[in-house]
Amino acid sequence: MNESTIFKRIIDGEIPASIVYEDDQCLAFHDVAPQAPIHILVIPKKEIPSIDQIKSEDKELIGHLFLVIQTIAREQGLAEDGYRVICNCGENGGQTVFHLHYHLMGGCNLQWPSGSSAPKENC
Ligand code: AMP
Repeated sequence: MNESTIFKRIIDGEIPASIVYEDDQCLAFHDVAPQAPIHILVIPKKEIPSIDQIKSEDKELIGHLFLVIQTIAREQGLAEDGYRVICNCGENGGQTVFHLHYHLMGGCNLQWPSGSSAPKENC
């Protein structure tokens, strides 16, 4: 059997996280290595490794995640000035934790494009 990802261990309460939102379908917490003044990860409780493994039965869940992102962005005061949502997929996409997650980033004027040639700091 595959080992649990670090995010599954956070969902199960085995390791701590700075949680900002939780409901029966998802969890959101501050990224441990923030790349912007506000950097929150929004994850489904269902174990979906990446975008590439999303199934048609997950459509409602994925829609719910985006409404949660919108709610958190408003709560964090990001809605007026704007924010960025990123989902890395697979090795070339820069994914390091293989449990689907959306990066919600804001609090400054973020650089674009976000590619390998971009400086480490996002703003
Ligand atoms: P990705 O590279 O898209 O897979 O993003 C994984 C993110 O998870 C990175 O931004 C990490 O900083 C973050 N991360 C890894 N471990 C933890 C943790 N224990 N708590 C919060 N964020 C984490």
